[in-house]
Amino acid sequence: MSQAEFEIIRRYFKESALNFSRQGIEKSIGDDGALIKIPPDHLLCMSMDALVAGVHFPYSADAAMIANRALAVNLSDLAAMGAEPYCFTLALVLPENNPAWLEKFSGGLLRLAQRFNCPLVGGDITEGPLSIVIQVHGLNQPDRVIRRDGAKPGDSVYVSGCLGDGAIALASIGIRSHLGEAVELIDETLPDACREYFRAAYYEPEPRIELAGRCNALVSAGIDISDGLLGDLGHILNASGVGAELNVHRLPYSESSTCCTSPENRLRAALYGGDDYELCLTVSPQQISALESVAEKLNTRISCIGEIVEGDGIVCLDEAGQVIELTDHPYEHFL
Ligand code: ADP
Ligand code: MG
Repeated sequence: MSQAEFEIIRRYFKESALNFSRQGIEKSIGDDGALIKIPPDHLLCMSMDALVAGVHFPYSADAAMIANRALAVNLSDLAAMGAEPYCFTLALVLPENNPAWLEKFSGGLLRLAQRFNCPLVGGDITEGPLSIVIQVHGLNQPDRVIRRDGAKPGDSVYVSGCLGDGAIALASIGIRSHLGEAVELIDETLPDACREYFRAAYYEPEPRIELAGRCNALVSAGIDISDGLLGDLGHILNASGVGAELNVHRLPYSESSTCCTSPENRLRAALYGGDDYELCLTVSPQQISALESVAEKLNTRISCIGEIVEGDGIVCLDEAGQVIELTDHPYEHFL
């Protein structure tokens, strides 16, 4: 390890507020590996996500915002498993030793790390094209795990928050999503409040850790929506061997998306977009009221958007109960 690397690790990570102590962290940054106790009768839940400059964020993006997003999307995977965050590791590929950037980056990780009591315990630094890889570690009680494979016919399908904002945010930030031109803003000159809303939607998605932690024993299946509702709900359906009916008029949208996209574009963003990091949960009729009261206590919006049925695949219904034909392909117009 070069002196420069050593200094980066010391200044921005080892001696930063990110490296706080937490019960069970026996050895953190500074040895060849971290030593972590798994509390008795718990499962260790591990998940990892990479963010690459030019693909997931613009090269010019603010370092603190990228850092926040990188940790948020990882925590969202823990939420999707119903896990409690424990600690995280960070691999950084940096094109240059830029102290101002590193200072901001390290600071940008702090808010979520502290809020979820999830300290940085180790990592790696190498030179190369700017990329950020985070691995989060969480804890589950074995009977409080959210998996993809438990959905049953008759269960209701719920989503947290609003859908489509992630894809619309990409359009407003100027990053092309895999939707290409499919999500268009009505007017490129968004009101400042909307622009700020979408910036936050993209760089500060809310990992639904609290909701997941309180409903992990209530729901039959769950996933976080990172690739669009159809794809991600599809993963639950495939894993569970069931199908679903979606009531598309019940999809929840934000005020900002309502004011700056057409209904067709909004629907497309929700179904095929991505980067929403909301939870999609299935719940049996017996547990619906418990789930709704958990969400109400947390002041977290949840919406019932459909039902699990026998069979496979997703059927989309309009308000009148008529089937809406969808193409599999987001580039094609389907309305
Ligand atoms: P080694 O050469 O043994 O692989 P490194 O020089 O990569 O070790 O790292 C030294 C210590 O610093 C290790 O404890 C490692 O986990 C930690 N570390 C390295 N990079 C980071 C980083 N980006 N964030 C947090 N800790 C890091
Ligand atoms: Mg070593």
